[in-house]
Amino acid sequence: MKGKVYLIGAGPGAPDLITVRGAEILKRADIVFFDALVHPDTLALAINAKKIAVGKRCSRISTDQRFINRNLVEAAHKYRVVVRLKGGDPMLFARAQEEIASLKMAGIEYQIVPGVTAALGASAEVGISLTCRGLSRSVVFVTPRVGNGEDATDWAKSVLAADTAVLYMAAGQAAEISAILLSQGLPAATPVVVVEKATLPESRQIQTTLSGLSEAGQWNLQGPALILIGEVFHESAVAQISIETLLRAAKAASVG
Ligand code: SAH
Repeated sequence: MKGKVYLIGAGPGAPDLITVRGAEILKRADIVFFDALVHPDTLALAINAKKIAVGKRCSRISTDQRFINRNLVEAAHKYRVVVRLKGGDPMLFARAQEEIASLKMAGIEYQIVPGVTAALGASAEVGISLTCRGLSRSVVFVTPRVGNGEDATDWAKSVLAADTAVLYMAAGQAAEISAILLSQGLPAATPVVVVEKATLPESRQIQTTLSGLSEAGQWNLQGPALILIGEVFHESAVAQISIETLLRAAKAASVG
């Protein structure tokens, strides 16, 4: 027998932010391999499934990506509905491509079910749009983190190239990030928001600037966090834009 493997995005944190499709597949799942960031209530949707933790924050053996790849293939030979459940969206910073490659090589059918990525959860939490007419027309999702044996990337170039930047897996190196971006010419007063545990009841936001980001060590960040950088996070800039937009809309309506 060959089952089908579903790579499902669980969403950014709150259990009701999974898609309807994702939830329905979970209900039919026979086995679920889940990441550490998946909420227990999301996992509980898989009422009949065997549940296996494979997240980075779990046991050491499970952190090996080859172990996960092999397990997905093996499970597809034993079970009909196999789920790989990942935090946020499965196609962003989630090593989905390696899993897809090994499924393809083994001739196993698979489907990707997207999820709300953490950046969008954080944008909703902060209540500030990542794009904004006149302020931001480009957004970059970037991580300074590289895997073992991988070359360092020029992540700072990506941050400088976009109007708004969202940094994943970066909060632990916040001071270094601040120093690198300052050295590359980004102004010290550039607005920054750090969002911890976006979409969960215990979520926290720290409003600061690029130079203020160097103090992140004092914020006692516990959960997953994102660093959001850009003029859109300057409260007064956003307020100004909103007023202008409203005035323009009112004028257009009265002309019409
Ligand atoms: N595939 C996931 C990202 C996995 S990488 C997605 O699409 O969201 C893990 C990183 O995501 C964490 O280090 C953190 O930077 C970010 N992250 C995940 N959940 C988060 C949350 N609820 N709040 C803030 N950041 C989060």
